[in-house]
Amino acid sequence: AKQSGRNQAHFFTAMMQEHANQRMTLEQDLRHALERDELEVYYQPIIAGNSGHVQGVEALLRWHHPERGLIPPDQFIPLAEETGLIGSIGEWVLETSCAQVSRLNKEGQSLYLSVNISERQRDLGLDADAVSAVLEHHDLKPEWLLLEITEGLLLQDSEETVTWLEGFKALGVSLAIDDFGTGYSSLGYLKRFPVDTLKIDREFIRDLNTDRYADSLVSAIISMAASLELRLIAEGVETDKQRLTLVSQGCCYMQGYLFCRPLPAAQLKQWLREYRP
Ligand code: C2E
Ligand code: CA
Ligand code: CA
Ligand code: CA
Repeated sequence: AKQSGRNQAHFFTAMMQEHANQRMTLEQDLRHALERDELEVYYQPIIAGNSGHVQGVEALLRWHHPERGLIPPDQFIPLAEETGLIGSIGEWVLETSCAQVSRLNKEGQSLYLSVNISERQRDLGLDADAVSAVLEHHDLKPEWLLLEITEGLLLQDSEETVTWLEGFKALGVSLAIDDFGTGYSSLGYLKRFPVDTLKIDREFIRDLNTDRYADSLVSAIISMAASLELRLIAEGVETDKQRLTLVSQGCCYMQGYLFCRPLPAAQLKQWLREYRP
C-alpha cells in the first residue's frame, strides 16, 4: 500500500507538471498568435425578434492554433487576461471588427457592432480616446458601437470603473451588461453605471418554458428593463418557442443558433445576402 501511495503521489506530481507545461506552452503560443495571424473575428447577428430584421452583430474571437485547431475564447481569454495580452488582443479585435463592419455598412448594410471588452483593458490603454481614434479611422459613428462588459466588473463598484465607462458614454458609445443574471443580485449598480443595455444570459433562455424559476426570472428581467428603459437582448435563443415566449413578453432583441451561428466575415456577408426575415 505504501508503494502504491508513493506511485500515486508521483502520478499527481507528473500530472500537475504536465498541466503547468501545457499552460506555459499555450501562453507562449498566445504571445505569437497575433503576429502569426492566427486570430479571427467571427460575427453573430443580433435580431429583432418580432420582425426578424438584423440589427447588429456581436464580434466573437477565435484562435486557429496551428496544432490544436480552433480554440474557443473561453479557453484562452482568461489566460490573455492574466498575462495582460488581452491589451493588444482586445485592441486588435476592436480595430478588425470596426473595419469589417464599416465595410459592410458601406456596401449597404446598417449594422451596429457589439464588442466584448475585459475589465483588464482599463489599465491596458483602452479608453475613450483610443476607441474614438479607432472609430474615426474606420469612419464609424460612435452610435454604432456597443461595448459589452460582464457583471463582475460592476460588482467591484469602483470610482475608476465609473469614470472609465462614463468616458465611453460621453463619446456616444452604448454600454451593455453581458451575462446578466449570473452575478450576485446587487442591482444597485444599474443606477450607478451608465449602461443602456442588458443581455440576458443564455442559461436562463435555455431553461425557458421548462423551468419555472427561469421563466419567472426572465419575465422579471424583462419588466425591470422596460421600466428602467434599458434595451434588452436575449442570448442563446435556439428554438422558435423560446423566441415566441420572449416576443410575447416584450423582449425585442435576440441572438442565437435559431437565427445564425457566429460566422467569419466573408460567410456573414453571404448569410446577410441570403437571409430573409
Ligand atoms: P458571450 O459574450 O456571452 O458570447 C456568447 C456566447 O454564446 C458565444 O460563445 C456564442 O458563440 C454563444 N452562443 C450564441 N448563440 C448561442 C446559442 O444559441 N446556443 C449556444 N449554446 N451558444 C450560443 P463564444 O463565441 O464561444 O464566446 C465565449 C465567451 O468568450 C463570450 O461569451 C465572451 O465572454 C468571450 N469573448 C469572445 N470574444 C471576446 C473578445 O473579443 N474579448 C473578450 N474580452 N471576450 C471575448
Ligand atoms: Ca458578449
Ligand atoms: Ca453573454
Ligand atoms: Ca458568457
